[in-house]
Amino acid sequence: ESVVNRIAAGEVIQRPVSAVKEVIENSLDASSTSINVIIKDGGLKLIQVSDDGHGIRYEDLSILCERHTTSKLSVYEDLQSIKSMGFRGEALASMTYVAHVTVTTITAGQLHGYRVSYRDGVMENEPKACAAVKGTQIQIENLFYNMMARRKTLHNSSDDYAKIVDLICRFAVHHINVSFSCRKHGAARADVHTVSTSSRIDAIKSIYGASVSRDLMEVTASENDSSSLIFNMHGYISNSNYIAKKMTMVLFINDRLVECSALKRAIEVVYTATLPKAAKPFVYMSIILPPEHVDVNVHPTKREVSLLNQEKIVETIQTTVDSKLRCSNS
Ligand code: ADP
Ligand code: MG
Repeated sequence: ESVVNRIAAGEVIQRPVSAVKEVIENSLDASSTSINVIIKDGGLKLIQVSDDGHGIRYEDLSILCERHTTSKLSVYEDLQSIKSMGFRGEALASMTYVAHVTVTTITAGQLHGYRVSYRDGVMENEPKACAAVKGTQIQIENLFYNMMARRKTLHNSSDDYAKIVDLICRFAVHHINVSFSCRKHGAARADVHTVSTSSRIDAIKSIYGASVSRDLMEVTASENDSSSLIFNMHGYISNSNYIAKKMTMVLFINDRLVECSALKRAIEVVYTATLPKAAKPFVYMSIILPPEHVDVNVHPTKREVSLLNQEKIVETIQTTVDSKLRCSNS
């Protein structure tokens, strides 16, 4: 059974960055305002995420890393799951099959916190009382220690670290009220460090630099169908002054960081047609639509979504971006 669990867990957690994403989403779910990440050896030795969220109750610690669902999602659950960030209640559980997971947490009003380690879905010992500041710290050590083949494919730790930094930058662009940091273990300086702000443009500037943020254009689009919402989009896109080697598309749908390749391609096409010299844009978009219109691929690591009315939505956004670019160009 443990081999089956390990293989399944290896599917959920494909690389260090997948573990970081799950853990940060949990921190955001817990209403954190500060999320600090420390990475050792590209995440293989250590991923440590500390937040100041509401913490985990003592009673929940014993079941924290049990799988909440079977592999067969009911349609109902699938639709519901999109509403919160939690995907299927198995991220933490999965990690315990392929790494050593230690949780330190304190809930409001408690004098001390608890620390407990997990292995293969269960607690290794009773939670131990310990000193703790507000929130939760998750430590994931020796990721893929029991999957030698996987470890071999992840020999480039700077590559994995770069992916983690990139991920945190994306979260920071959307969650501007949360301060994020990420550093290598033992490093004095953080490689990402954001402070809470009320200005999206300031956030983008501090994360991606002035060259991106200087000429950002605001874009909005929305559509309703006889009083019911089809979609609502708000975002910022770069103009002709911005030249980059590759496109950056930061996309949140219903506050979840996702990928939508159809939308990305549609926007890239507009840039290539309108601004040949600056064909690789920076794009941030936040789209809100009825939760039941979003279909997350059943595979938990695929953040690719498909949307009800997708063609229409993509086309409307494409037209919006196109006219914005033409305006700025003339
Ligand atoms: P899901 O997020 O889908 O519920 P996870 O395996 O990611 O499943 O997390 C399991 C549960 O552990 C969460 O539902 C939450 O109750 C708790 N949890 C995990 N991380 C944190 C955190 N940083 N702060 C508070 N609660 C947390
Ligand atoms: Mg989760």
